[in-house]
Amino acid sequence: MTWQNAIITRIERLSPRVKSFLFRLPEPMSFRPGQHVLLRLTAPDGYRAQRSYSIASAPGTGRAGELELAIERFDDGEVSPFMHDAAQVGDEIEIGGPIGGHFVWTPEDGGPVLFLGGGSGVAPFMSMLRHRAAIGSRDPVALVFSARSREELLFFDELSELAVSGNSFCLMVTLTREAGAHSFRAGRIDAEFIAGIVTAMKMPVRQVLICGSNPFVETAAEGTIAAGIDPAIIKTERYGAADVQAEGHRLPAVKCQPRRPL
Ligand SMILES: Cc1cc2nc3c(=O)[nH]c(=O)nc-3n(C[C@H](O)[C@H](O)[C@H](O)COP(=O)(O)OP(=O)(O)OC[C@H]3O[C@@H](n4cnc5c(N)ncnc54)[C@H](O)[C@@H]3O)c2cc1C
Repeated sequence: MTWQNAIITRIERLSPRVKSFLFRLPEPMSFRPGQHVLLRLTAPDGYRAQRSYSIASAPGTGRAGELELAIERFDDGEVSPFMHDAAQVGDEIEIGGPIGGHFVWTPEDGGPVLFLGGGSGVAPFMSMLRHRAAIGSRDPVALVFSARSREELLFFDELSELAVSGNSFCLMVTLTREAGAHSFRAGRIDAEFIAGIVTAMKMPVRQVLICGSNPFVETAAEGTIAAGIDPAIIKTERYGAADVQAEGHRLPAVKCQPRRPL
């Protein structure tokens, strides 16, 4: 694992619970869309906490080669509240990676491909779609983006622009907790919904990638299989608290890393 001391260069609010963090790395990181990194915080007493975050930026592009992570805040969490409440532009944070070779897709892998993202689980698809747009690929891609409400649709303007660009990218939104107050589909992903999308794509889907919380991945995978998709072409990435390192010890609510000016 290669660790680097990355500098936070920008923080943007994407939704009430998610912020985007842009990091400048001392050495450019070579990665494939869909891979993730480890973000490691060290307390003054040496205690360390680390969590995985999908890379949302495209490889070799982005703003001046910066790495973008979209981090959702969990109120009872350890690392995400620190990033939301304490981390500032100019802070130095350790980033390790890239990690993961299974949950990746590039246009060279071929299409049509179906992405299903729940909440912050849209992050790796942003990397894939940004890379696809950057190289001018026209392989058919459909993204089903499930969020609780309209205000929780991350990157929605950018996704909408990609969808109207006419490059065989189709965006479908489903909102689970805001029925009737908008023009989007309401409700959870189910077999009927997936079957309709697959039919509309007109060509056999070669790969399905699903990313989000455990319950989202379960529901989406069940719906996809019930819609007749071969489980062998489904890849999943589950967010959750599986990589928690220590119990009974929390990061203090103070700066955990040495800071240096930009
Ligand atoms: C490969 C991978 C990629 C990931 N990429 C991202 C990403 O791009 N953006 C992002 O925001 N998160 C991502 N995660 C989740 C992330 O690693 C952390 O689990 C999350 O930030 C919570 O960390 P925490 O320290 O704040 O909370 P923790 O202290 O780990 O957990 C606190 C509480 O929150 C719950 N919880 C933690 N994570 C989730 C979750 N995802 N859904 C529902 N409940 C949860 C726990 O069960 C617990 O109750 C990814 C996870 C993996 C495994």
